[in-house]
Amino acid sequence: MSNSTYDYDVLVIGTGPGGEGAAMQAAKAGLSVAVVERHTSIGGGCTHWGTIPSKALRYSISSVMNALGSPVLRACGVHANPTMKQLRSSAQQIIGKQVSMRQTFYDRNNVPVLVGQASFVDDHTIRIDGQSDQKVTANKIVIAVGSRPYHPPDVDFEHPRIFDSDTILGIDEKPFSITIYGAGVIGCEYASMFRNLGIKVNLINTRAKLLEFLDDEIIDALAYHMRDQGVVIRHNETLDKIEGVDDGVILHLKSGKQLKSDALLWANGRQGNTDGLGLENVGLTPDKRGQLEVDEQFQTARDHIYAVGDVIGFPSLASAAYTQGRAAARHFSDSVEVESNLRIRDIPTGIYTSPEISSVGKTERELTEECVPYEVGSSQFKSLARAQITGRTAGMLKILFHRETREVLGVHCFGAEASEIIHIGQAIMNQPAGHNTIDYFVDTTFNYPTMAEAYRVAALNGYNRLF
Ligand SMILES: Cc1cc2nc3c(=O)[nH]c(=O)nc-3n(C[C@H](O)[C@H](O)[C@H](O)COP(=O)(O)OP(=O)(O)OC[C@H]3O[C@@H](n4cnc5c(N)ncnc54)[C@H](O)[C@@H]3O)c2cc1C
Repeated sequence: MSNSTYDYDVLVIGTGPGGEGAAMQAAKAGLSVAVVERHTSIGGGCTHWGTIPSKALRYSISSVMNALGSPVLRACGVHANPTMKQLRSSAQQIIGKQVSMRQTFYDRNNVPVLVGQASFVDDHTIRIDGQSDQKVTANKIVIAVGSRPYHPPDVDFEHPRIFDSDTILGIDEKPFSITIYGAGVIGCEYASMFRNLGIKVNLINTRAKLLEFLDDEIIDALAYHMRDQGVVIRHNETLDKIEGVDDGVILHLKSGKQLKSDALLWANGRQGNTDGLGLENVGLTPDKRGQLEVDEQFQTARDHIYAVGDVIGFPSLASAAYTQGRAAARHFSDSVEVESNLRIRDIPTGIYTSPEISSVGKTERELTEECVPYEVGSSQFKSLARAQITGRTAGMLKILFHRETREVLGVHCFGAEASEIIHIGQAIMNQPAGHNTIDYFVDTTFNYPTMAEAYRVAALNGYNRLF
């Protein structure tokens, strides 16, 4: 299907996971597609300053610190103090690999990447300010412009010791101490990373608990393990002011506390990249955080303009952005409604703290509020042979299931490989009624020894609670 009235059937703004998912799905459906990207290379914030660099840095820190902590290497006299630059170098290589691999997707599917800043001129016309200023028209437009750290006006982000989640990736010197303001996913992940490097960490939470959307038992476990590792956590705090001085940063809190550290990481909120997009020319108004409202099919208030990924807010995950991009493209190319086959709602959460956390489905809190008669089956990693062999015994997996139908309602896990093994539970949860029960874990032979064995142990534990 090609609409000759326009230059392209579809124009996608942004080449992060949201834009890539939409562009590839539309191209596979036979539509003529182009993408616009203002950064020097494709991949989005996900590849250049979000998911990929932070996860690569985390892996680099944990593998180096684990190796340096090995009693065998210590006995051999191996000591080292890697610099931030050295720890970052593997991230740079991975970014390069990701960019060149993803570029082949656009090349193979004949999707041109138009370089420059996109903005709406009118309903179907996009202006691209860049190397070759041009105007392009398209029938459908997908906004996948992502987000950036929110900057309150009274915080001086030009100060060399005050960072946000983008600039922290470029930090040159390992600070002796750091204060992280904001204990959401990004704040907690960086708190774990810095602590693993031996840096003193203050984690300032504006809420009563860490990551309140998680299951309470997992939240408690995360707080316990972080404190056990030496992270100082302060809950229910509110910023008064941040004062950058020559030898550090002083955080003044409304409670009267003052914390001085070598550096400060601001991790409190993100802002959609909608400014400069000319949305006023198409009658769209973002909210005060620059985010756009969409319906179930990712259509904005203007039917032919879709929005996906971080620019529409929660859950603000690369994984979700990609699925949303595909769903939007399926809607306008094949008229496929979201609910039919793309799982938008049961998006798992993967949080790369130490220990790692992952969950899918309902929490105990939600099931209790909804008066669902559920039971819990749990497995402690310290009892699993695989965890004992690898020495990674901190963690647990729990399955929440309906006590009458035995349907799996939620899986919550923390510890080694949590973000991988969660998908086993997710796959069973998504089976049709009668096949989505804990019986699968009881009746199926799992490889041994594995971390996935936790499902069998947890299911049996839950079974034994039924009467
Ligand atoms: C530190 C950190 C760690 C994270 N870790 C994880 C994780 O472990 N797992 C996970 O699932 N998610 C993680 N995320 C979130 C994830 O990175 C985002 O959810 C994801 O990148 C959103 O994808 P997107 O396509 O919406 O936007 P982005 O990936 O941000 O891409 C948007 C693109 O649009 C371009 N653009 C913006 N405006 C314009 C314009 N006007 N014209 C042209 N181009 C434009 C930008 O240059 C950018 O390339 C993390 C984020 C951060 C910051």
